Amino acid sequence: MQRRLWCALAILCCSVVCSFAAPDKPKDVDRKEKLVVILLDGFRWDYVDQQKDKESLPGFRLLHKEGVRAKWVNPIFPSLSYASWTTLSTGLYAENHNIIGNYFHDSYRKETFELFNRTLTSNQRWWQDVEPIWTTATRKGRKVGTFLWARSDIPVRGILPHQAQGFQLTKGATSLGANLDKTIKMIKSEGYDLVMVYNEHIDNKGHQFGPTSPELMIALQEVDAELYKFLKKLDDTDLDETVNVMIVSDHGMTSGTPHSGAEYVEIDDYLDMDDVSYVIDRAAVAAVAPLPGKADKVYKQLKQMRGVDVYRRDDIPDNYYYKNGRYVQEILVCAKHGFVISGADSPKQIPRDPSTPRPMIWGGLHGYDNTHPDMRTIFMAMGPSFKKHYQGEPIDLVDIYQIYAHVLDLEPQPHNGSWSRVRSYLTNSASFSKVLSWNPILMTLLILLRYFI
Ligand SMILES: [Zn+2]
Repeated sequence: MQRRLWCALAILCCSVVCSFAAPDKPKDVDRKEKLVVILLDGFRWDYVDQQKDKESLPGFRLLHKEGVRAKWVNPIFPSLSYASWTTLSTGLYAENHNIIGNYFHDSYRKETFELFNRTLTSNQRWWQDVEPIWTTATRKGRKVGTFLWARSDIPVRGILPHQAQGFQLTKGATSLGANLDKTIKMIKSEGYDLVMVYNEHIDNKGHQFGPTSPELMIALQEVDAELYKFLKKLDDTDLDETVNVMIVSDHGMTSGTPHSGAEYVEIDDYLDMDDVSYVIDRAAVAAVAPLPGKADKVYKQLKQMRGVDVYRRDDIPDNYYYKNGRYVQEILVCAKHGFVISGADSPKQIPRDPSTPRPMIWGGLHGYDNTHPDMRTIFMAMGPSFKKHYQGEPIDLVDIYQIYAHVLDLEPQPHNGSWSRVRSYLTNSASFSKVLSWNPILMTLLILLRYFI
């Protein structure tokens, strides 16, 4: 309960801070900028620069030339998709938005969240804690469309975008091209102000074949071709004068094959499944829910496991901004880089991987400590709100949300981003700067106060 109180206090304080921001925002009645956000799942920060052929990937290179790019983006912890998508749409750390991974469990209500189970992720309860950008924009009268983006098709406080399509497994780059074609039409002749488009092609190939594989390079080219066509169409129709395009991603990718040096460690070898109610997720991060009275025993046994850090909930590092989340379990097992946790071969494992072959091998993985370079991801943008041909210092994933709000001239919801890290990317960076720069100080103050009360 105390953890909840602190989360609420943090959000409340941010609310107070942000509420003072509104009068500082310069109003420009003629400003009618549009925004297209393209989320390319699993796009590691160095994928474009690693290309030996400097003429390849003309779409991304056009963005670099005509717009801005961050040197890299630091992901959140855990560097997993659903948690990071929710950060991208709210600017909040996992412990503040409560979508703490791809799999998690509400022990009180006995409800589970699973990445590929749309029935479970449709539970409206998961989504009512915070307001994503598509809800704020819709509430403020902007016309919003989404394609495959998280569960943007679930109403938040009764509000849905004009067109909402939530996440469902959609392989390949073809859907990206089709959705970008629809985006042009929606912006040009249907009055849309914000369109958010998700594509998982690069992440799929990264998981299947690894981040340095030829298959990944082909996927990059396929995505780039769709992006290039889209940017040219914007230019041909003069939409580029009013439309801003942001390319974002959720996390990077690291090699997972034994051939690349990854070591697989069986959690089953260190855990008596009779002592636990669930083991949630595996690979980079596994949350363990011990049965009553078994926590000390389970913790001691897991501490023997090779290649992992094991934490009791209260000892999870503060700078993960994770442990105060509502659905965090009693014990967290984090694989060190180079190690992979093989999930338990038990019905108590969520999700349960096939029993054969065992261990299940991934070509590429993510979810590791968010300071590891392989987990870094990208931010690029172009359009009237952004400078031209500018590369700035690294930003954090929590910083991106406030840029949407700035471009759309909306007051942001309380968030964990820092305006000082993003202002240099913008042509007009006056908005909110004075007030939001207090955020890091505020967060530090709150952390310090925890030790005194
Ligand atoms: Zn992802």
